[in-house]
Amino acid sequence: MELLKNFINGVYTAPVLGEYIDNYEPATGKVYSQIPNSTLDDLELAVLAAEKAFPVWSKYSIEQRGDILVKIAEGIEKRMEEFVKAESRDNGKPETLAAHVDIPRSVSNFKFFGTGIQHFASESHYMAGEGINFTTRKPIGIVGCISPWNLPLYLFSWKIAPALAAGNCVIAKPSEITPYTAYLLGEVIKESGMPAGVLNILHGTGASIGGEIVEHPKIKAISFTGGTATGAHIAKVAGPMFKKMSLELGGKNPTIIFDDCDFEKTVSGTVRASFANQGQICLCGSRIFVQRSVYDKYKEAFVEKVKKLRVLPPSDSSANMGALVSKPHLEKVKSYIELAKEEGGIVLTGGEEVKMPSPYENGYYLAPTVLENLPYNCRTNQEEIFGPVVTLTPFDTEEEVLKMANSTKYGLSATIWTSNLERAHRVADEVEAGIVWINSWLVRDLRTPFGGVKQSGVGREGGWEALRFFTEPKNIFIKY
Ligand code: NAD
Repeated sequence: MELLKNFINGVYTAPVLGEYIDNYEPATGKVYSQIPNSTLDDLELAVLAAEKAFPVWSKYSIEQRGDILVKIAEGIEKRMEEFVKAESRDNGKPETLAAHVDIPRSVSNFKFFGTGIQHFASESHYMAGEGINFTTRKPIGIVGCISPWNLPLYLFSWKIAPALAAGNCVIAKPSEITPYTAYLLGEVIKESGMPAGVLNILHGTGASIGGEIVEHPKIKAISFTGGTATGAHIAKVAGPMFKKMSLELGGKNPTIIFDDCDFEKTVSGTVRASFANQGQICLCGSRIFVQRSVYDKYKEAFVEKVKKLRVLPPSDSSANMGALVSKPHLEKVKSYIELAKEEGGIVLTGGEEVKMPSPYENGYYLAPTVLENLPYNCRTNQEEIFGPVVTLTPFDTEEEVLKMANSTKYGLSATIWTSNLERAHRVADEVEAGIVWINSWLVRDLRTPFGGVKQSGVGREGGWEALRFFTEPKNIFIKY
């Protein structure tokens, strides 16, 4: 059984108390490695290392820091296959998805911020006859980055890359459910020339080591991506300590289809937006609203396409979907399908586990599930399921669909499918979301602000937004 280690002060380090927790392979349901159950003792080692490294790292020139981040990107690229296989094994996602999305995007995150930092500028405000203000943007110090399991290295690197580029030292915690690629990253960091202690990676549960990171007085900012309830808890702890916080939380995203859409493109686009990564992307559209005049036609075409999705072990190159991430998560998603039936929902396809031959018979496979006949305000349509489950709901007017789309506590993303430009603009303007895609889904430009409104989060990541978050502005005025 492989024992993973923390990465502290540039060295793989066993947890001080010697405690470990099991790490499962979703494809088989078996434990395949163990990870440190880190405690405050481990965190203190990491904080000490980060404190020592900060004066060095923060004084590096932006070119030096940028070069190291680009070397990290190249280091991952060199080990692409190893990272792809590790991500797929740890998470249950098809290898093809990890190869096309997760790992290439992790490479891009390091390249993007490694080069971006060299173009980052601060503001100056001239006051006629008075003088001039200029703003410095210095790194904060030690920051905490906590990431979820659905896009493990992708979201881990999306946080640590801007934090490091801006000159901070980082204490990062990947999800205990998918720790492996963050563990592998330590090797790449060692080879990159990054000074010891700049990036420290601690493993363990959210309640223990996650909580310790949030509470530690020397960690000045928290960048968190995960569930809304966890975000609320973190805000309660870190708020009174006046820590800077960026919270990227849950979603219940609407997919809005008008009868003037490009029908074929809409059907294939929305199948992908519903079931990519087994529906476990915070941006997946889980509530599909279809204009009544095309409702039956869309339903038939959509369900037919969904039935053709191949749920297979993640290493099978023809898999469209792999395994869900964990047994508890599979049970949670199944419980929502039962709830939907109690609420009057009709299962159009899916709704049950997919049984696999040995050695995958205990893996967490669920058929892509499409439901209809549910009121827009029932629990199934209001609560985040975060799995391969979508609902179909007809609507008549723009006004009606906006009311339904905006009815949840979430506001992360929305997609709109129409060929009417004016309508696209109108609906995009009114829909309550931080990110809107028109006739597309998950087209990502790393320069754009990323994040949600309402209970989908506070703050934005991406581009200058992330570099502003990870720096502390100071305005200095000079009198003429
Ligand atoms: P989670 O909230 O359970 O865990 C996220 C991370 O927080 C993990 O590393 C976990 O160990 C840690 N954590 C848990 N409790 C903690 C605590 N008390 N203190 C500090 N850290 C703690 O979320 P998850 O189940 O890993 O991920 C799924 C959720 O993430 C979904 O709600 C999804 O919508 C959301 N998500 C949001 C975005 C976004 O950008 N908005 C992206 C991906 C996922």
